[in-house]
Amino acid sequence: MDFLKVLGIEKNNRGTSTGQEWLGDSENSSLISYTPIDNSAIAGVAVTTRGEFEQVIQKAQGAFKIWRATPAPKRGEIVRQIGLELREHKDDLGKLVSYEMGKIFQEGAGEVQEMIDICDFAVGQSRQLYGSTMQSERGQHRMYDQWHPLGPAGVITAFNFPVAVFAWNAMIAAICGDVVIWKPSEKTPLTALACQSLLARAADGFGHAPANLSQVLIGDASVASQLVEDPRMKVISATGSCAMGRIVAPKVAARLGRSILELGGNNAITVGPSADIAMATAAIVFGAVGTAGQRCTSTRRLFVHDSVYAELVSKLKAIYARVTVGNPLEGDNLVGPLIDKRAFDAMQANLNEMRDKGATITGGERVDTGDSDAWYVRPALVEMPETIPNVKEETFAPILYVFRYTELTDAIRRNNDVPQGLSSSIFTLDMREAELFTSAAGSDCGIVNVNIGTSGAEIGGAFGGEKDTGGGRESGSDAWKGYMRRSTSTINYGTELPLAQGIRFDV
Ligand code: NAD
Repeated sequence: MDFLKVLGIEKNNRGTSTGQEWLGDSENSSLISYTPIDNSAIAGVAVTTRGEFEQVIQKAQGAFKIWRATPAPKRGEIVRQIGLELREHKDDLGKLVSYEMGKIFQEGAGEVQEMIDICDFAVGQSRQLYGSTMQSERGQHRMYDQWHPLGPAGVITAFNFPVAVFAWNAMIAAICGDVVIWKPSEKTPLTALACQSLLARAADGFGHAPANLSQVLIGDASVASQLVEDPRMKVISATGSCAMGRIVAPKVAARLGRSILELGGNNAITVGPSADIAMATAAIVFGAVGTAGQRCTSTRRLFVHDSVYAELVSKLKAIYARVTVGNPLEGDNLVGPLIDKRAFDAMQANLNEMRDKGATITGGERVDTGDSDAWYVRPALVEMPETIPNVKEETFAPILYVFRYTELTDAIRRNNDVPQGLSSSIFTLDMREAELFTSAAGSDCGIVNVNIGTSGAEIGGAFGGEKDTGGGRESGSDAWKGYMRRSTSTINYGTELPLAQGIRFDV
C-alpha cells in the first residue's frame, strides 16, 4: 500500500503529537486499526498516556499565547499552505480514508476535497472576523464588538468522517487564533496521524508558524474525557452519537465550558405530488445508500405522497437490486462495508424488529465477499405499514423506511416527530409546498433543503442540527463565532462621565 508509506504510516506508530514532536514509544502500539474491507490489521498506534496528555495541553497553552497575537490574515496563510499540502496528497489521503473507514474511494477523495474547500473558505474568513459598531446613547462615546481568540479547542470526531469533520473545526479554529487538540475516533486513528504529518509539512514550509499549533491524542472515550473535563480547554467540539453527547454536554457544562455538539440524525425526504421523480430518486439513493448509510445526514426516512408512491418505490426497488456492493477501493462499487460486526448486528436487529411489526423489506441481507469478518450488506428498503407511524432511533446502516402520506402538514409533523433534528428535504415543484416546508411551521431541522437530498452539504453553510442533534454549528456561515470570545468595548473620548440610562450618581 503505497499511500500508507507516503503518508508516513508505519507498522507501529507513536500516537500522541504535540505538533512539534511525536511522544511515546511505537512499540507500545496497543490500538490496532483494522480495515473494514477485509478486517485485516493495517497498523498499530500507541495510546496517549496521562503524562503525555499533560505535555500536550501545556504545549497547547504555550502555543496559544503566540498564535492569538499573530494577525488573523497571517494565520490564514498557514491554512492556505495546509490546503496546498492536501491538494498534493488528495488521492493518498482519500485512499487511506476508504481503507480505514470503508467508504468508496470517490467519497474518500470527496472528503479530502471538503478539507481543501474549508481551507480555502478559512483563508478568506481570516480577513473577515467582523464585529459590529453600535451607536452609543452617550455623546463622544464609541461602542463596538471585537472577536478574540478563545483558547485551546478540543475536537473529538466520529469514525464516519474521519478527516473532514476535523478540518471543519480545525481550519476555522486556526484562523480564529485557537490551538487545536484532536482526539479522532479509535476506529480511524491512522487518518489522524496522516493529517498530522501533512499539517507538520505545511508548518515546516512556513516562516512564522509557532510550534505546537495542532496536536493529536489517540485512544477511546477515556482519553476524550480528559479533554472534556479539563478547564484549560476553552471549547469542546464533539461529533458522534447522541449517547456520547449526553455524557459530554453535562461534563463541559459542569465546568461552565463551551461545547459545540454535532450528534446523531434521523433525516427524512418528503416527496410531493409534483416532484421531479428522476431527481428525487437519484437524491434518495445517494442519501440512503451512500457511505453504506453511515453518514450523520444519511436519508433514513421517506414520506411519499400517495399519488407518486407506486412509481417512486418501484424505481427505488429496481436500483436497490442492482446497486453494486463490494470492495470500496475496487471497480465501480457504490457501497462499501459496514464499519464492524456491531453495526451489522444492529442493522439486522432493527430489520427483524420492523419485519415483526409488519414491514415489507427489500434487501438488507449480508453480501458474501469471501471474507468471513467483513460486513457487507445490500441496502434495505423497508415499506412501513400505517400501524408504524414513525421511526425514532438512528440505526447507523443503510436502512430506508418508506411511509405514505396524503397531507403535507402530516408529513411535516412526522418529519419533526423524532428526537433528532439534523437534515431534511422536500422534492416538489409547488412553491407553496416548498415555502411551507422551509418556513417556521415547516421542518425543525438544522438543514432544510428543497430538491436536494439530505446528505452532501457544502462547506459554505453552517452545518449542524437542532434538538438531540446537539444544536452546534460548524464549517461555514458564521460558525467561526463558536471558536472566539466576544468583547464589547465602549470608548469615552470626551471629558465628561455620563452614565448609561441617564443615571445620576454625584459624588
Ligand atoms: P461515537 O459516539 O461512538 O464516538 C464518537 C467520538 O466520541 C469518538 O471519538 C469516541 O471516542 C468519542 N466518545 C465516545 N463516548 C465518549 C464519552 N463518553 N466521552 C467522550 N468522548 C466519547 O460515534 P461513532 O460511532 O464514531 O459515529 C457515529 C455517530 O456520529 C452517529 O450517531 C452519527 O450520526 C454521528 N455523527 C454526527 C455528525 C454531525 O455532524 N452531526 C457527523 C458525523 C457523525
